[in-house]
Amino acid sequence: MLHNALEKMKYVFGPVSSKRLGQSLGVDLLPPKSCTWNCLYCQLGKTRQFVTERQEFFPREEILKEIREALTVNTGLDWITFVGSGETMLYQGIGWLIAEVKKLTAVPVAVITNGSLLYLPEVREELLQADAVLPSLNAGSEALHAEIGRPAEGLTYRQHVEGLVAFRREYTGQLWIEVMLLGGINDSDEALRDLAAVLKEINPDTVHIVLPTRPAPEHEIRLPSNERIERAIAILSEVTTVVHPLKGNMDLRSAPDLLKAVTAIISRHPVQQRELQKAIADCFGGESEMEAAFMQELLATGQFKLVEHGGEPYWVMVHDDPVQP
Ligand code: SF4
Repeated sequence: MLHNALEKMKYVFGPVSSKRLGQSLGVDLLPPKSCTWNCLYCQLGKTRQFVTERQEFFPREEILKEIREALTVNTGLDWITFVGSGETMLYQGIGWLIAEVKKLTAVPVAVITNGSLLYLPEVREELLQADAVLPSLNAGSEALHAEIGRPAEGLTYRQHVEGLVAFRREYTGQLWIEVMLLGGINDSDEALRDLAAVLKEINPDTVHIVLPTRPAPEHEIRLPSNERIERAIAILSEVTTVVHPLKGNMDLRSAPDLLKAVTAIISRHPVQQRELQKAIADCFGGESEMEAAFMQELLATGQFKLVEHGGEPYWVMVHDDPVQP
């Protein structure tokens, strides 16, 4: 019933389960792909035409109506997350939506953004009521920022950092900066030290290191080695609290239907085999026969397959082409 109701929705999806946000109802505010950047690692493919002007792409009342409906059929949500097929803050009126959602529910609101528009006072203002904001910062220098994010003309690195610094000063909610760690690109000691210096200036609540677990259509992206991940954590931890990308992790123990919960997660993003095994093992309290039976059940659905990426096996949906997401 729940799935049927949500399948018909245009803006609302999920709930999806993630390490950072638990059970999260997603709200996508943008036509694909509308972005200010053209990241090397983007799963949505190349930004064919940059969008830098903010617009109300879809009527805000329509989006709110869907959120209201989704809230009537969902319980046990940890977050409502605004995220876009591109840069979320391009949606003009997101501040109004956050305020309206807060009148409907006590479920906290998160916004995932690349942060490129935070230099605009009106954008920062619209975000003040969010409970958590997760902007990106992948580099500690203009050159590396340009190499990774390939932003639209006129959007400079300094502007990006100054936007983040200004937002931190004004915002009392949780500021969780996401660092996409790319093997051979921003995982050297030098790049990490530059990044740490800028993070110190921004002063976020935490930094979440995220990994390119899905190959980008446009560019060959490598996962960083475990040694580089540990090094990144050590260097960035000197200036802020860092959330490990491989620990902490998927918790499925309270899922009412384990198969459905796993399906919902893998349909949104590939899941590392070892991470999934650990989460399943936690559910069955170390009963390895039950664990093996569940994995068999999972394969028998015919919906999933294992693919290798960066030397690690990942579960993906069968219809997912890992090279052309
Ligand atoms: S900011 Fe996000 S949507 Fe935009 S290009 Fe980068 S990864 Fe893709």
